[in-house]
Amino acid sequence: MLFSAFLIPLFTLIILRPWISDNFLWRSKKVLLVTAHPDDEALFFSPTLLAVPRGVQVFSLCLSHGDSEGLGQVRREEFHRALDVLKIPENRRWILNHPLLQDDIKAMWEPNVVAAQVEPYVTDYKIDTILTFDDYGVSSHPNHISIIRGIRYMLETNLFAKPPKVYSLTTVSLLPKYTGVFGGVFARFNLWLKTDWETTPMFISGAGQYIRGLSAMRQHRSQMVWFRWLNVFFSRYMWVNEWKEVDIAQTAKARI
Ligand SMILES: [Zn+2]
Repeated sequence: MLFSAFLIPLFTLIILRPWISDNFLWRSKKVLLVTAHPDDEALFFSPTLLAVPRGVQVFSLCLSHGDSEGLGQVRREEFHRALDVLKIPENRRWILNHPLLQDDIKAMWEPNVVAAQVEPYVTDYKIDTILTFDDYGVSSHPNHISIIRGIRYMLETNLFAKPPKVYSLTTVSLLPKYTGVFGGVFARFNLWLKTDWETTPMFISGAGQYIRGLSAMRQHRSQMVWFRWLNVFFSRYMWVNEWKEVDIAQTAKARI
């Protein structure tokens, strides 16, 4: 009894505040989030999107309008409503409908097609930082995985005067993936115990950010079937984002 009387307030206190280690976005001016489907931004990236420092501009490019069930138009509207909640203005968000980049759980998108779509936005808006999925794509969805491959291809084949930095969202293994709020608490302890914590960019939402992320996710009404509700309550990505910088020098070397 005494134990829970102590533990519950402590737990509440811990989850109230967001916690960020090495907020690399401070070093950016223009950040482009590249996603595959409407809802990716809220379901996987909200801890980061809700911790963008003032003065940093965030842009969002979604490569498909999620038409696998013929709901493309509905999902397009939901995407815009979710980005309203995430405070990404209308003139900094785009959702594509390219014939070779359709929402398909079996399709790996061609890297050159992804690169050709992303490159003009990077150039025209002078993007200095790109955020996207890693090679495991959170859920192994081939559309997610295609993005980082396409961005590597873009960096290999385009001569940018100053190539953007690229950060990929670390995919965690199955067990921690569904730890929800507890994942956020464990991640905080993990950071406290680490000696090199400054080198691990990690964004952990507080309760307020989680509720905003949830509200963004609820704009994707067509997607909120029962298992998606389980997902938003138990997914660690609604609470924690860990990032890894993609080694561009290595990518450039591969070109030679
Ligand atoms: Zn997706």
